[in-house]
Amino acid sequence: MGDLLAWDKTHLWHAFTQMAEYESLIVTRGQGCWLETIDGRRLLDGVSSLWCNVHGHRHPRIDAAIKAQLDEVAHVTLLGMSAPVTIRLARRLAEISPAGLEHVFFSDSGASAVEVALKMAFQYWRQKPNPEPQRTKYLALDNAYHGDTLGSVSVGGVARFHQMFEPLLFDVLRLPQPSVDHLPAGIARGDACDYYLQQFDAALALHGHELAAVVIEPLVQCAAGMIMHPPGYLRGIRQLCTKHGVLLIADEVAVGMGRTGTMFACEQEQVSPDFLCLAKGITGGYLPLAATLTTTEIWNAFLGTYAESKTFFHGHTYGGNPLGAAAAMATLDVFEQEQTLVHLQDKIARLSKHLARLAEHPHVGSVRQCGLIAGVELVRDKATGQPFAWEEKRGFRVCAEAMRHGVWIRPLGSVVVLMPPLAVSPDELDLLCAAVEQGILVATGTSAGS
Ligand SMILES: *Cc1c(COP(=O)(O)O)cnc(C)c1O
Repeated sequence: MGDLLAWDKTHLWHAFTQMAEYESLIVTRGQGCWLETIDGRRLLDGVSSLWCNVHGHRHPRIDAAIKAQLDEVAHVTLLGMSAPVTIRLARRLAEISPAGLEHVFFSDSGASAVEVALKMAFQYWRQKPNPEPQRTKYLALDNAYHGDTLGSVSVGGVARFHQMFEPLLFDVLRLPQPSVDHLPAGIARGDACDYYLQQFDAALALHGHELAAVVIEPLVQCAAGMIMHPPGYLRGIRQLCTKHGVLLIADEVAVGMGRTGTMFACEQEQVSPDFLCLAKGITGGYLPLAATLTTTEIWNAFLGTYAESKTFFHGHTYGGNPLGAAAAMATLDVFEQEQTLVHLQDKIARLSKHLARLAEHPHVGSVRQCGLIAGVELVRDKATGQPFAWEEKRGFRVCAEAMRHGVWIRPLGSVVVLMPPLAVSPDELDLLCAAVEQGILVATGTSAGS
């Protein structure tokens, strides 16, 4: 164990982690919603292994599906060939996704799923009947997060992550994040949707003709700090994209696969995007697989003889790999068998009750929830909303304390994130929220109600 601790800090470069300050946390097993560490601690997985676990760790059905696929073949390329499980998954995704999304391009990460949509949209305008090659730009929201490759970083807008790379990025038209919890002075909550849609309409009236696509995270901008959009915003965006003839890319990498209470966030506002990006939970959090779904109108613009060069020249070696596809099929089976979305509704309500309690705390500025996604924003001054400086790492302090109570969570700045697997039990949910409450008390040096 001593060797592993040392090597973990010297040889293994961890994602989004300051290695000079990294403290090893080595997980050797998972079971249900629990992780076991090398030193024998059991921790509740309060953020679903970074937002991707759905039905719990070591779910028998998903384990069995992967093992059965291993006995057939581990990998088949999608460059000119196919595997049965990958074909079935494409068909099933087309069936369960919002209407009109009939064609599935597989890759292996959320960032890639977004890159694929960006490139397909770009190429579509050049190849469609009556081409519009001047449509080369994208519109995205402030604080958007779409992954860490350069294309997805270009449409991303989280300054702390993305600013460094600005010289490498393409230009993106940007609008303010439509957060119901951070409205400009003078805008009432009930007017937020109209306010932001008017801005959007005006931007599209000016720039619509040069836009290839609008990229958004439907309902919730997760990495931005669980920023919730006003109800009706997504539907309004869809209508305005149609009005101005711009394609809509819905990045459901985080919010898809049941997270918001429905299989896809777009369902909640009866929206069909032109592209739907899925990753994270699609394999239940087991294996890297991602999908970009699109319409027959887009697909048709890529058809022709090879010599016409309308092919989509893009691919990832492990895109649509059969092991991942088998895990995804099993994940969807479990949704049906265990009636995951039906049982989820009580858990969502239970989480709401806990959040209402946390909201009373003197250093909690706002609590936000959509389905089984929640953010608790800590502030220095509740009356003025003055934030804690990010360097104070208040969120991390909450998480450190929660860990002492047997719960693993990871914050976004001063926002404490709660994103347990959909399989979380009521008792586990209670434990998670109690640990967060303790964490907040300790990290802000207060006691409840004082
Ligand atoms: C996590 C995330 C991505 C990136 O997915 P990776 O698999 O980490 O590349 C893209 N978009 C959203 C909304 C995400 O939350």
